[in-house]
Amino acid sequence: MNKLALLLGGIALSSLMSVNAQTISSPDGQLTVNLYMSAEGTPMFNVEYANSTVISKSPLGLQTSVGDFTKGLKQDNVSANFEVSQSYDLPNAKKAHIEFKANEQTVSYSKDGKPAFDVTFHVDNNNVAFRYQMKPQRDRLACIVNSEATTFTMPTGTTTFLCPQMTPQTGFARTAPSYETFYEYDANMGTNGHGRGFTFPALFKVNAKNLARVPGKVRKAPKVTEKTLWVMLCETGVDGKYCASRLSCTDNKYSVAYPEETEFGGVGSASPAIMLPGYTPWRTITVGETLAPIAETTIMWDLVKPMYKASQTYKYGRATWSWIIRMDASCNYKEQQEYIDFASKMGYEYVLIDALWDTNIGYEKMEQLVRYAKTKNVGVYLWYNSTGYWNDAPQGPRGKMHRMLERRQEMAWLKKAGVKGLKIDFIGSDKQQTMQMYEDILIDANDYGLEIIYHGCTLPRGWERMYPNFISCEAVRASENFSFGQHDNDIEALAATIHPVLRNAVGNMDFGGSALNKFYAKDNQHGRKRITSDVYALATAVLFQTPVQNFALAPNNLEDAPAWAIDFMKAVPTTWKDVKFIDGYPGKYILLARQATDGKWYVAGVNATSEPLKINVSLPMFEAGQSVQLYLNNDVKTVKVSKKQNIAVAIPSNGGVVIK
Ligand code: CA
Repeated sequence: MNKLALLLGGIALSSLMSVNAQTISSPDGQLTVNLYMSAEGTPMFNVEYANSTVISKSPLGLQTSVGDFTKGLKQDNVSANFEVSQSYDLPNAKKAHIEFKANEQTVSYSKDGKPAFDVTFHVDNNNVAFRYQMKPQRDRLACIVNSEATTFTMPTGTTTFLCPQMTPQTGFARTAPSYETFYEYDANMGTNGHGRGFTFPALFKVNAKNLARVPGKVRKAPKVTEKTLWVMLCETGVDGKYCASRLSCTDNKYSVAYPEETEFGGVGSASPAIMLPGYTPWRTITVGETLAPIAETTIMWDLVKPMYKASQTYKYGRATWSWIIRMDASCNYKEQQEYIDFASKMGYEYVLIDALWDTNIGYEKMEQLVRYAKTKNVGVYLWYNSTGYWNDAPQGPRGKMHRMLERRQEMAWLKKAGVKGLKIDFIGSDKQQTMQMYEDILIDANDYGLEIIYHGCTLPRGWERMYPNFISCEAVRASENFSFGQHDNDIEALAATIHPVLRNAVGNMDFGGSALNKFYAKDNQHGRKRITSDVYALATAVLFQTPVQNFALAPNNLEDAPAWAIDFMKAVPTTWKDVKFIDGYPGKYILLARQATDGKWYVAGVNATSEPLKINVSLPMFEAGQSVQLYLNNDVKTVKVSKKQNIAVAIPSNGGVVIK
């Protein structure tokens, strides 16, 4: 034992003090979860990728109303390895057809001789996921989970890319939290955001110590080399049966934390309640040597199932949206008619009519407007204020969505009027009661053939597959802030470099971008100024993915924007067959490729650094010598892909590139 410990050094010493009970590996053997029991009877796990530790030894366990299952536990059965493989279609997310292979094993834990919980691990080549199944205790068939011991201990030297959780009941009309703070880039560990942790998804750059050892074998002198690994933490499968979670940080330990009591106006419990036996959502860890496995992951959907059948084939597409440039005052009949005509000229499928239509247009005139839109082949989305009793947001229509009776009456009218979808705003809470409301609205909406976009809201956690009429969530510091203040415009490109490899990697994102106005004002001559280029606007139409895009274009762009930009925006798709990460570093630049459902590839990139970014863009999706359209430097031209399948470009600061 002593000789062995000396050979392995300090890192391995701690693992020898507890029993290594189990290893669960990915199909290619690169990614492994190792399970241990601490001396106090706490189940522990770590995660290794290619012999490097990416999650150091961390606890598992649940603290519940029917007992403390964080210590005094014993590991019982370990199931045989179960190879899962699946293929499924997902037309409303980043990849239309998904295939995966993974290994699954379930480990059972007991306390005082009675079953406590099972943990099922799902490990594919780049993702680890696990969830608890809490067991009935004596005659108790329900319990409250007061807290979760689940922690992700990050190795020393890790840097972070995190979005701090907002303070509940703050912001506009007490509508927070809604995942709308600024990211921090390459920040050191140890802070807890603004004091209340961080939202999912969370990105880490691990400077991993590669121990150069073969599992199960001890080498004489392990050669320690350093390498960078990217790790994303998230969760999926959250519905009305549980709350959504966030991460709370102490030093290098990121623990799963539940909502705060004050969320949702203080209404409803912060702790989830479950029927026994019952599951927690899946906790997910995505690991890669580059950001590709994160940008391309489908783990959010691999682990969930559709919860009901689509009542019809839902249609996706592009929308015009007056509010982003012209704000509340534009939600009148005349200007909405103008935006319907604009949508028709662009060949767009939808118009989104935002807040206050109920008073500025009215229900009767709205029926007339929807009929008018139909003659132009434009479908109508209507905005709703979700609340309710949990904030003071005054915009109407309000009080129509939070209770089943009013909601179904309203949806019956919407269906009769021919409305296609709703954008429902101001639902800032992650409590179980709120999750139930998100779900109930989606279920009712499906009965009436309505698509749903949520705003001022939580992150979707597997919802693209769970709810077939779900379109997207905001859950990002989105385009509205370009209208609200200049600072967001000044750093617009910065945020665009992280979304495709973080927020948008785990779920559809209603950003509402791609403005071609110079200013966020109806006259396009004053107010908040856009500092990004027109090619940048095109690039984000590809980088930011959601099946119904509410673009920030304005009717005047038909005259004042370059023709090549308008032509591009007329043709840009919103549903995709595939996604490939090409290059990038969050906070600096991003290059990503999406394949449209017709097979055509769109490569898009933006540069947030202060200097032009000279880069040889690797284009394996195009053939050598193939002619492609290159959008760069306020122009478009036809160029040929080189023999080595690349194109050299210099992307301007705050500018973009598109190759198609
Ligand atoms: Ca918002």
